[in-house]
Amino acid sequence: MCGIVGYVGKQKASAIILEGLKRLEYRGYDSAGVCVLQGGKLDVAKKAGRVENLVKEVTKHHLTGTTGIGHTRWATHGGVTDANAHPHVSSDGKFALIHNGVIENYSQIKGFLLSKGYTFQSETDTEVLCNLIAYHYAKEPVEGSRSPHGNGQGNGGAIATSRFLESVRKTLRHVEGTYGIAVLCVDYPAELVAARKASPLLLGVGDGEYIIASDASALISRTQNVVYLKDGELVHLTKTGFTITTLDQEDVSPVVDKITWSIKDAEIGTYAHFMEKEIFEQPLALENSMRGRFSEDGSTANFGGLNLTASELRQIDRFMFCACGTAWHACLVTEHLIERFARLPVEVDYASEFRYRNSPLDRNTLFFVMSQSGETIDTLAALREAQRKGYRVLAINNVVGSTIAREANGGIYQHVGPEIGVASTKAFTSQLLLGAMLALYIARLRDMSFSDGVIYVKALKGAPDLVRDALKQAPHIQAIAKRFAHHTDFLFLGRLSLFPLALEGALKLKEISYIHAEGYPAAEMKHGPIALISEKCPSVFFAPKGEIFNKVVSSMQEIKARKGPVIAIITEGCELPPGLADEVITIPDCHEAVLPIVAAVPVQLLSYYIAVERGCDVDKPRNLAKSVTVE
Ligand code: GLU
Repeated sequence: MCGIVGYVGKQKASAIILEGLKRLEYRGYDSAGVCVLQGGKLDVAKKAGRVENLVKEVTKHHLTGTTGIGHTRWATHGGVTDANAHPHVSSDGKFALIHNGVIENYSQIKGFLLSKGYTFQSETDTEVLCNLIAYHYAKEPVEGSRSPHGNGQGNGGAIATSRFLESVRKTLRHVEGTYGIAVLCVDYPAELVAARKASPLLLGVGDGEYIIASDASALISRTQNVVYLKDGELVHLTKTGFTITTLDQEDVSPVVDKITWSIKDAEIGTYAHFMEKEIFEQPLALENSMRGRFSEDGSTANFGGLNLTASELRQIDRFMFCACGTAWHACLVTEHLIERFARLPVEVDYASEFRYRNSPLDRNTLFFVMSQSGETIDTLAALREAQRKGYRVLAINNVVGSTIAREANGGIYQHVGPEIGVASTKAFTSQLLLGAMLALYIARLRDMSFSDGVIYVKALKGAPDLVRDALKQAPHIQAIAKRFAHHTDFLFLGRLSLFPLALEGALKLKEISYIHAEGYPAAEMKHGPIALISEKCPSVFFAPKGEIFNKVVSSMQEIKARKGPVIAIITEGCELPPGLADEVITIPDCHEAVLPIVAAVPVQLLSYYIAVERGCDVDKPRNLAKSVTVE
């Protein structure tokens, strides 16, 4: 969480930073701030609230400088106030700093700095970093003693290490916790130092300019050439070049990657919200996720990036999946499909639990993590914990070059383009698709027949069109949303592979409408949640054709007998007893592997339209931010 941007170049830094902050706002919107180095001074404008508040505040300042930093905050330490907004300035006025992460030992450091006469204006953990840099800077010899070196950029950008850089490095050696930071120093008017540990940070290498940002959306309008920084690396920017070094003062040769998407992909177009855009983009997103990933004979999936041979995969006798939030629901569906089609046991854990649980794992377990952003800190920690114990960890992830993608031993990119809406939609259905393809791939290495494989592949290839069909229900679902938007409690009920969809439906509604909602296996409802049922608590049922259809209908009867309104999501060809459901949404009938993907559409649309009806800020729900990079 938190978005950070830094600029060193020839243009007016504040304009580029504000544009970047608007694009990073989905990462946090408690407050925003910018600091520009000009006339030998740090000029700070910051304000609680959205970036638009900051834009107004900035007009009161005359920010013309060409070096600057900016931040959009998701508060962890200290309330949502102007004073706690970043950038923070050291009490000697020399340094300004922005931070994404949590400094765990901030209280000890603060005590130490107070004893040395440093003063604090905020309650944040971040401000201690800024003052600790000032403390080390004051003790540092006037200039570092290392010899200058180039950086392979061919730009003659040799930079000697500096007192500025070394004071940041020293500070970070004393810090426990996580950080992505960018720092300015009044004594170095055209320079910036940035560093990261467990919080994302990349460097955009532009035409005579450099941009540091939490993610590519903040810099893509200026350059597609980026260097993904690794944990423990510091980058030192000047107008003419940059160096990357480690906390141990080792030089790092930068690898410049090219971003494959463009600014257009991150724009809202004619939609009212990014969430709406991303729901309707799903057919295309699914096509992109599956492109080039089926075998020529059309009987199985192909994954180039798993870095495992077929015979290695046949040694695997158990899978472990870790994720958080919506991705965790996608893992639950994948569990169902792998167990059903590949007949291998799968365990799914919350990444945040796994990392501290020390669960015993069998040696032949293949470990997977799922994360849209590839930066989710709990998922990253689970990956590292599994690797520490000698397991190979594969990742299903959307953002190319993310920390999880780089640290995993292999994986599958989702290729759905940037997802901006805080509530995940297209990334979720793409994870469901890739989970289904993985189940197929493993099943075909074991005992799934060629003809069953062909049927499965055909079904998956048809998923984008089935989602297109399901999206045609939008006006009908909007009308249902209008009818039920005033309710304050909902139940979502489903069975087998649609139980995780019930969880996801409830989560979506909670996230963006602030309505209390719970997801349960339909038959579990009578073991407790049924006590909630009244005419005030609607139940959304998934009732697809198949062996459990009649059982789900019985659960609906039990709700109806207690006056609970029923919204039934059924597949084509199903018939409900007359009068049982208050509303019926019909989705296409499809293969078991595709059903969860298609079933996601009505619950996404229902929660979206209910949130709109209630006047909620769909893309920026309260207290939430996308890409949870704090623990
Ligand atoms: N800990 C910092 C603060 O509360 C940054 C929070 C974050 O990265 O989300 O201001």
